[in-house]
Amino acid sequence: MSLHIYNTLTRIKEKFEPLHPPHVGMYVCGPTVYSEPHVGNLRTFCSFDMIYRYLTYSGYKVRYVRNITDAGHLTNERGEGVNRMESQAKLESLEPMEIVQKYTVSFHRIMDAFNTIPPTIEPTATGHIIEQIEMIETLLKNGFAYEVNGSIYFDVKKYNAEHGYGTLSGRNIDELMAGYRDLDGQEEKRNSIDFALWKKASPEHIMQWNSPWGKGFPGWHLECSAMSTKYLGEQFDIHGGGMDLKFPHHECEIAQNTGSCNHGGAKYWLHTNMLNFNGQKMSKSLGNSILPMEFVTGNHPLLDKGYAPSVLKFLFLQSHYSSELDINVKGLQDAEKGLKYLMEAEEEIKNYELGIRNSNKTDWDLKIENLVIGCKDFMDDDFNTAKTIANLFELSSIVNSLKGGQIKSSEISQAGIDSLKKNLHDYLFDIFGLKNENTTAANNKLDEALQVLINLRKEAKAKRDFATSDLIRNQLAEKGIQLKDEKDGSVSWSVL
Ligand code: AMP
Ligand code: ZN
Repeated sequence: MSLHIYNTLTRIKEKFEPLHPPHVGMYVCGPTVYSEPHVGNLRTFCSFDMIYRYLTYSGYKVRYVRNITDAGHLTNERGEGVNRMESQAKLESLEPMEIVQKYTVSFHRIMDAFNTIPPTIEPTATGHIIEQIEMIETLLKNGFAYEVNGSIYFDVKKYNAEHGYGTLSGRNIDELMAGYRDLDGQEEKRNSIDFALWKKASPEHIMQWNSPWGKGFPGWHLECSAMSTKYLGEQFDIHGGGMDLKFPHHECEIAQNTGSCNHGGAKYWLHTNMLNFNGQKMSKSLGNSILPMEFVTGNHPLLDKGYAPSVLKFLFLQSHYSSELDINVKGLQDAEKGLKYLMEAEEEIKNYELGIRNSNKTDWDLKIENLVIGCKDFMDDDFNTAKTIANLFELSSIVNSLKGGQIKSSEISQAGIDSLKKNLHDYLFDIFGLKNENTTAANNKLDEALQVLINLRKEAKAKRDFATSDLIRNQLAEKGIQLKDEKDGSVSWSVL
């Protein structure tokens, strides 16, 4: 079987045929760097990491572009409201670019802790203002955009008449217009459904740039169209992001690309599904939002203890990337056990030597062969990691039977053993990006060590030796560990 991908644009599973094999161009919408990424964001980025790894493993030469949104993303999804980086900067009394730097660094740290491979290009919106202005100029020239008071809007109605708007999300322009009618603050637009390509900046707006239309800033959707075109071309293979970005973000991207280049950009659109915790959508407002590093430290009231990053990743991989995933403590505990079982089998077979080198194919060899073919077929079937893992469990149980003597060494050939070694290793480490780590024990030790420092700081404070107490707090902060004085007098710690 060859690789097939569910294309959200055509709503069918299609044979994957890159435009210029063996090269593959993949663009994934990256984080908006105004706050810590939550575990939902993490799931999406881990899913694309697995996809990137599998494409590479399958022999493709992938150019993987994932942007950093550091401008343009307004608090309102429809392109109104205040800039997210600026509003967070006010809250934290920092410059907007300090917010960008702080959360970009933190995002990279987390991606690294979760053993994801960095994209091959990671462009920023602020670094591509010129390209965005150029795209707006083309859209104006092609008649799909108009200027009002120093702002530029995309003319959705005009575009719809020529190219059809809403094909990706399956939305109908009349219904959309009816839904938007009552919303205010849209006096400038010709139609309520039009979206901003460039917004005139008021003087108090810090993030603003010169443009042919005066000082302003780009609309959020524009950066991805401009940067994907720049680095992957007017036509490229894969565009990905979370399901929540399908509309309006990706729909607007397709309109911008088609309006400026006469082509919608990507051939295959991939969307990852949302993450829930204890049956509820994880969100800050519901109070069930857990940060990736809180899973690792266990420093959260909803968790029983810390879990290694690979446990959380393994839990993600146990469901298909396009299914909603509900996680809870029981799921984490089971994932921890399951991962341990597979890792122990990999460790066992790595060092396993047959007494005699059998060359004849046995029934067990055939069973291994079928399971390995199954792994590839499942991965080729729209990256079905859940079913692949089921086969890895069966391969691991063969290893255990060998170890326990239920399968005799005469009943398996060297080729069978080599296949077990290679496939357990490749799937666990190269394709799924898991690690054989037992950080639970390490984290418990870390907590104990930090309690020692916390107590030393307390003693220093009691003796009014503030130089020492500040030194402890500041040096830990430099290492990415934050101490927090709680109201009840206790001190908690978290990883920044
Ligand atoms: P953002 O930083 O909000 O622009 O989001 C970064 C990525 O995470 C986007 O691809 C989102 O679609 C995705 N995302 C946001 N929330 C969730 C969630 N609860 N579960 C899975 N992915 C999410
Ligand atoms: Zn995007």
